Amino acid sequence: MSEDLFEDWRNNAVNKKAENAKFLKSLKRKDRKKIDALAEEMHDEIFEEIDCLKCANCCKTISPIVREADLRRMAAHLKMKESKLIESYLLIDDDGDYVMNSAPCPFLGSDNYCSIYEARPKACREYPHIDHKPFTSINNLHKVNTLTCPAVYHSLERLKKIL
Ligand code: SF4
Ligand code: SF4
Repeated sequence: MSEDLFEDWRNNAVNKKAENAKFLKSLKRKDRKKIDALAEEMHDEIFEEIDCLKCANCCKTISPIVREADLRRMAAHLKMKESKLIESYLLIDDDGDYVMNSAPCPFLGSDNYCSIYEARPKACREYPHIDHKPFTSINNLHKVNTLTCPAVYHSLERLKKIL
């Protein structure tokens, strides 16, 4: 990742929390298709510049939800019984969902590679949801993710300049 992008995010994301909440709310009054198209463009642009392997902040600080289909895929990949996988790596959170039992994620290597990449949960594949449609339908998630993910923070900064 460009160090400048990382530094900018680290120094400003918390301070811009209220501003970002207001901006995200304002997007709800704009043309939905236009916002979705711009958000997708920002997603593609920012991931040309940001290397997730030099970050891994999501894998280090938040846990993905592990659904039944994820559980089956992960257990098959690890050649492990689902019950053993649950016992070794998962816990049930306050909402009753399976999540990883530690942060950083137990499958994250010291080189920031995911050791179960091909079988990782759907939530990991979809993170950080910048290209989710309709973009504004998960505004609360985008707001939280500006604090976790530099790509989300910078996508919003670029959207602000365009709109
Ligand atoms: S926090 Fe965002 S930029 Fe960092 S690794 Fe995760 S998706 Fe990539
Ligand atoms: S399963 Fe892989 S991609 Fe998902 S949080 Fe763990 S290390 Fe990251």
